[in-house]
Amino acid sequence: MPATLGIIGGSGLYDLPGITDVEELTVTTPYGGASGPILSGQMGDCAIAFLPRHGKGHRLNPSDVPYRANIHALKQIGVTHLLSVSAVGSLQADLPPGTMVLPDQIVDRTVARDRTFFEGGIVAHVSLADPFCPDFQQHVLASIDQADAQVHNGGAYVCIEGPQFSTRAESQLYRSWPAQIIGMTAMPEARLAREAGICYCVVATVTDYDVWHESEEDVSVASVLAVLAANVDRSKSLIASLAASPLPACTSGCAQAAAHAVSTSQDSRSDENTALLSFLTSRNAQSES
Ligand SMILES: [Zn+2]
Repeated sequence: MPATLGIIGGSGLYDLPGITDVEELTVTTPYGGASGPILSGQMGDCAIAFLPRHGKGHRLNPSDVPYRANIHALKQIGVTHLLSVSAVGSLQADLPPGTMVLPDQIVDRTVARDRTFFEGGIVAHVSLADPFCPDFQQHVLASIDQADAQVHNGGAYVCIEGPQFSTRAESQLYRSWPAQIIGMTAMPEARLAREAGICYCVVATVTDYDVWHESEEDVSVASVLAVLAANVDRSKSLIASLAASPLPACTSGCAQAAAHAVSTSQDSRSDENTALLSFLTSRNAQSES
């Protein structure tokens, strides 16, 4: 199985033209089904797999997205590098709608999501100090046509549970933190991708100023949709550009993140848990070429 570039499409990104030899895969996992069928095929130099996070017709709210099934399914079909394409609100005046942000940190405010593969008799504590793969993120950054969009590299993504937008007091609180953008989906995706040994990063396109801005309209579905179309076109260009070159080697240890993180002694692990650990720490060697 070749090393594979995975794309999880967020709001507005429900299809990915340009995939050849395309197959629609329905992958079963111990955590149930993924958000929907995965489109698998070839694009440019890469084997590619595309999964719309919210399902066909945008049926799954951010709390209902089956994050574990999605990451497990993508891992099963060989995904080594996973780009999350997301719509977010801006917490800063200098990041207006249309800006592409590649955050390097996350503040997790979610409260109702399954966030680990390690449960039921096996305990592991992977490092999340840097939740995104810096090697992959650099590769994504280099693939963005900076003439086409304002790009901001770095910053923190505040991930809220939703599905409601923030209150004004919450939005002001988040602005007082060292945080740049706000969304509802980067967690637990980043946690699970790290546990699964997948190089993961986010490209977030700003659709609004949340509710803190005194002279700009408060965020609403209508205001988000108005800027989403242009952002989605930019995201599709970015993905085509990303797929045009080979996936980068990872020097950050993503693939083996879980291997050294298990606290449970060998003789206390069930066969099922040993198999899970073996699955999560396996990775196609071609991705490191
Ligand atoms: Zn990595």
